[in-house]
Amino acid sequence: MTNKYMYFIANWKMFGGLSTLNSLTKVIKFLKIFKKSKNTKIIYCPPNTLIHPMFKKIMNSKIQVGAQNCHESLTYGASTGSINSTMLKNVGAKYVILGHSENRESGETDKLINTKIKAATKSGLKVIFCIGETLGQKRKKITNKILLKQITLGLQKVKRRKNIVIAYEPVWSIGTGVIPKSDDLFKTINFIKKKVKNIKVLYGGSVNPKNINELKLIKNIDGFLIGGASQDPKKFIDIIKKTYN
Ligand code: PEP
Repeated sequence: MTNKYMYFIANWKMFGGLSTLNSLTKVIKFLKIFKKSKNTKIIYCPPNTLIHPMFKKIMNSKIQVGAQNCHESLTYGASTGSINSTMLKNVGAKYVILGHSENRESGETDKLINTKIKAATKSGLKVIFCIGETLGQKRKKITNKILLKQITLGLQKVKRRKNIVIAYEPVWSIGTGVIPKSDDLFKTINFIKKKVKNIKVLYGGSVNPKNINELKLIKNIDGFLIGGASQDPKKFIDIIKKTYN
């Protein structure tokens, strides 16, 4: 059981159409009656197509909306298919996920992520900054070295650090059903908090209503970034409830 202030961030990835937004009604109702709701920050990051309709749906509720990525430029420009942080803010986003491993895998460098973080915070968005090692890096026992590199380069010359939360997401845990050993996770989160002062650190990777009972016992975690399980309102509600049970 915890009394801590916890983040629950839903990363919908490439999922959902307009009718999917109906599933939020359950979550909104639940948050109205949930006794610990003051201790929670709930953020949904749908695909860009749903940011504005979701923003309208969650008005007057406890939920806030975020995006899953953005372009690094602060101005309009010739960049087909891209959306910048100012445009996201304009349609209701308050947060943006940056540095997600699925985007790092398709070529995003630490330097580009750093430019995006600076642009997004300048626009007034809060940033969910994802870091994490691959399975190969874990096997070579270079997790801390990789995380330090991602943190150092990603946050280089970033001024508005109070608008950033870090999500530690081991790549080998995302979508696999495998989570780190509690002791390892505690140590890694401690390591991140030592390197970046006064920062909230969330855990992400296969969080679900079963393993939350184990994860919630890890004292230095400030919340969870939830992918697959967040697409199902029942599972998402279950994760929140069990965290405080
Ligand atoms: C994610 O993609 O950020 C994530 C945590 O996914 P999942 O929960 O599905 O592993």
